[in-house]
Amino acid sequence: MIVGAGFGGLMAARGLARAPVDVLLIDRHNYHLFQLLLYQVATAALSPADIAEPIRAVLRRQPNATVLLDEVIGVDPAAQIVKTRTGTRQHYDWLILATGSKYHYFGHADWPSRAYVGELISCRARGNPVPPPFRYRNEGVLATIGRRSAIADFGWVRLTGFVAWVIWGIVHIFFLIGFRDRASVFLNWAWAWVTYGRGARLITGEVTPLSAVRRSEEKQKA
Ligand SMILES: Cc1cc2nc3c(=O)[nH]c(=O)nc-3n(C[C@H](O)[C@H](O)[C@H](O)COP(=O)(O)OP(=O)(O)OC[C@H]3O[C@@H](n4cnc5c(N)ncnc54)[C@H](O)[C@@H]3O)c2cc1C
Repeated sequence: MIVGAGFGGLMAARGLARAPVDVLLIDRHNYHLFQLLLYQVATAALSPADIAEPIRAVLRRQPNATVLLDEVIGVDPAAQIVKTRTGTRQHYDWLILATGSKYHYFGHADWPSRAYVGELISCRARGNPVPPPFRYRNEGVLATIGRRSAIADFGWVRLTGFVAWVIWGIVHIFFLIGFRDRASVFLNWAWAWVTYGRGARLITGEVTPLSAVRRSEEKQKA
């Protein structure tokens, strides 16, 4: 069982694709979110749908995977059971908790480790020798600066300016989940870059009725 369909959870699920196990992936959302481009959504360069992909669509070609939309609210390790918000109790043999973390940011070591966990469980389920202990490898650091400049530091080489900016864009598009999102982000970026325009400028959400605003103001005065 895997809880969370972020990078970690999805990589673990994919790592178990050929293992003789049934994978149950639980997430409280029905989509995987590519958080790295949330800044572009916040600045209206991209739409939320450009950086989100339904989890079932991501795993549709993996027959041993089942996706459940629910929120895990408790784990009973002794009974090997997770409890969910809708009241179900799901039994597990192996549990991968990939629910994200707070206060971790650049150089995050969680991503590759979850893929490693998938490989580890796969080896154990097959009776194969387990892989050597996990070691985090920093692939490099990328930071974008405005419209045509970035820094790309891979340890062995450090690039700046437009070349680094192109690498930054390619890496972000490469790591997006799903061809539709990749194509959409590429086209929207290209459009915004050429026209200086913004693709997604919708302001969504409920508008509070005027009567409710007045009632609240009257309450505050009283
Ligand atoms: C705006 C922004 C920009 C970022 N930029 C970078 C960057 O440039 N470089 C970098 O290295 N990192 C960056 N990060 C960090 C990076 O996105 C995270 O490190 C990464 O997403 C962590 O992956 P994860 O799988 O551990 O968790 P997440 O991607 O957070 O996934 C956790 C999943 O678990 C689900 N979940 C949580 N609790 C429950 C529950 N109780 N029950 C069911 N499901 C649950 C959530 O719905 C979610 O789908 C950025 C993050 C943000 C927010």
